[in-house]
Amino acid sequence: MTIPSRPIYLDCQATTPVDHRVVEAMLPYFSDCPGNPSSNTHLYGWEAKSAVDLARETLAGAIGAAPREIVFTSGATEANNLAIKGVAEAYMTKGRHLITMQTEHNAVLEPCKYLEKLGFEVTYLPPQTDGLLAVKVLKAAIRPDTILVSVMAANNEIGVLQPLADIGQLCHQHQVLFHTDAAQAVGKIPLDVEAMHIDLLSITGHKLYGPKGIGALYVRNRHPYVQVAPQLHGGGQERNIRSGTLPTAQIVGLGTAIALGIAEQVAEAERLKQLRNHLWQQLQVLDNIYLNGHPQQRLPGCLSVSFAGVDGAALLLGVQPYVALSSGSACASSKPSPSHVLTALGHSPKLAQATLRFGLGRFTSLDDVERAARQVVGTVQRLRSQK
Ligand SMILES: *Cc1c(COP(=O)(O)O)cnc(C)c1O
Repeated sequence: MTIPSRPIYLDCQATTPVDHRVVEAMLPYFSDCPGNPSSNTHLYGWEAKSAVDLARETLAGAIGAAPREIVFTSGATEANNLAIKGVAEAYMTKGRHLITMQTEHNAVLEPCKYLEKLGFEVTYLPPQTDGLLAVKVLKAAIRPDTILVSVMAANNEIGVLQPLADIGQLCHQHQVLFHTDAAQAVGKIPLDVEAMHIDLLSITGHKLYGPKGIGALYVRNRHPYVQVAPQLHGGGQERNIRSGTLPTAQIVGLGTAIALGIAEQVAEAERLKQLRNHLWQQLQVLDNIYLNGHPQQRLPGCLSVSFAGVDGAALLLGVQPYVALSSGSACASSKPSPSHVLTALGHSPKLAQATLRFGLGRFTSLDDVERAARQVVGTVQRLRSQK
């Protein structure tokens, strides 16, 4: 995406621009079709409901679920909170132990910490040095009182893809529910809740060229029927699991974004992989740089690189007029502390801070990548020579 005189946008793990085709699909639902999808006494309500139904079918189809298993939320933060706190509340008579990873998004870690305050126990498993979870480590952590395992599909900082099918199979063997935060994964890599034995799955619109403020939680309702205690009480929408008037336009946007993501997934993944590999090659003129996370098992558009021997803040400041990217996750980047994901991989705080996350997306061109690489290489060389 090249807007003259503005930095090249390479922060697609923080958020993506809304695709114009998504905007077009949403527009009628702001003014011309203003009905509340829950109004069942007139045309305006019916047309809104049918738009919501269509989006629900699209979401369900994209992950191999049934439409009634989709609960719309305000995004992945809310979906994760609903999954984790909702399961904990519904199953606390069965057990009070949960398992997650140290490298999860804060929208998983913070609900877990909150549950610890309420008396639940949480095990935070470390990744291997490539960022992946070793399934045998998970197996050893499962206890008779474990009720939920939450492991993300694709990491938002380093892009690694966790072995969901193996994790899911293990969970089901032990009759433990499996939740995955798939905010970075839906519409980008194949996902199937049946083949991967996933019981709960979080989705958000704004990481896949849809609008901000809309997402969903998939909640399995057969083999097993998963219970989640509602965290928002009110009008009883979404089968009483999540009250609140459904935002028709945002839901249409999410549905359209997912439909486009699925339709273009294979070709786009290949294109992004080539751009990402090209970028990594361009950076090779520098020595002492490290690719974070497993080299192959990763999102096509994400490249996290640490640059030894430079100050992280100076590096970001140097590239910022030309390239918009971040060192860790957007939510954490206002805090000066090093990324908890990179330190969990074994990086020193200094190396963790000297890290750039390149987030390539649908509107990133070869020219964008080459210009960004030149700016980063130049900045690193300048900072290193000033030592
Ligand atoms: C962005 C993101 C979230 C938060 O999603 P929101 O829709 O912004 O609440 C959660 N988990 C992961 C992995 C993310 O990348």
